[in-house]
Amino acid sequence: MNSEDISKVKELLSVPQKIVIIPHKNPDGDAIGSTLGLWHYLKNNGQDATIISPNDSPKFLKWMPGSEDILNFEVENSQAKRAIDEATLIFTLDFNHLGRVGQMQSFLEEASATFIMIDHHQEPSDYALVTYSDVTMSSTCEMVYNFIDYLGDTDKITSEIANCLYTGIMTDTGSFKFSSTTSKTHKIVAELIDKGAENTRIHNVVYDTNSPSRLHLLGCALKNMVILEEFNTAYITLSQDELDTYKYQKGDTEGFVNYGLTLDGIRFAVIFIENKEEGIIKISFRSEGDFSVNEFARAYFHGGGHNNAAGGKSDLPLEETAAYFVNLLPKHLKELTR
Ligand code: 5GP
Ligand code: MN
Repeated sequence: MNSEDISKVKELLSVPQKIVIIPHKNPDGDAIGSTLGLWHYLKNNGQDATIISPNDSPKFLKWMPGSEDILNFEVENSQAKRAIDEATLIFTLDFNHLGRVGQMQSFLEEASATFIMIDHHQEPSDYALVTYSDVTMSSTCEMVYNFIDYLGDTDKITSEIANCLYTGIMTDTGSFKFSSTTSKTHKIVAELIDKGAENTRIHNVVYDTNSPSRLHLLGCALKNMVILEEFNTAYITLSQDELDTYKYQKGDTEGFVNYGLTLDGIRFAVIFIENKEEGIIKISFRSEGDFSVNEFARAYFHGGGHNNAAGGKSDLPLEETAAYFVNLLPKHLKELTR
């Protein structure tokens, strides 16, 4: 944030506001961690703040302090609409265009509130008075830490805030291994541990609380993996039938796509997951090196994200989606094999 933005934010927060904080649809650790971290900070500063999530969050994030106070737009619909209507200030976190909030989009477009965006994805749209956008950041949680720092308030980071921000930095950096992890990221994480983030417990509750059926679903996904050595690419499909067989719960497929990249030489990994209820195939893309999955997802699958992690969707059936995908690869042979 530049000094002009910092002054604007300081001015906005110098008076009581009715604040709504919003993560993207299908929120992940960074989306929930950043919204909750900011929510605790604003509430501790005497602001009236509410988090509204476009839909439910996965079980492995529900332990986070304040999680039970998050409104689910799909369930507490009228309460959520009223909060958006009455809001004077809306923070959008971990996304940068309003198409990422599903059914909430039109309500946000009509809201009279002032918007503040905090986000690290590519190509932010222009809906906020203050756009704090930085694609070099590991996570929105790291940016919320910086945001609090810009306001001169790091001494107000409580153990609740520290736990929330630690979680999002951990999940978005693949436990501090992706190239977006900088020495500054580690310094912030060290600060958060000093302020009470329970690092070992967080790794345990996020990663080591599998159900047997989730591991069996992972087994199914790995069996379904198709390796296309010629293109240094591996992809996985999961049909709705397979999800049902293994009692799929929200969040169960989180991280499955990364297994493709653990294969020696594989630089592009994809997972296609059928969602009968929404009538779409949800897709996750991951890459190693300079093949931009953000551009790929934007060009062919109505999506986007980061250079090495992006998402998108397809309206074709599962097999046809995979076939369409495979047919795109020859066009990108050079980028995938250089
Ligand atoms: P994931 O594959 O874990 O769902 O998402 C990877 C990254 O891509 C995340 O940063 C996420 O916010 C972004 N992303 C996922 N799905 C979409 C999508 O449909 N559209 C856009 N623009 N970004 C997405
Ligand atoms: Mn993120």
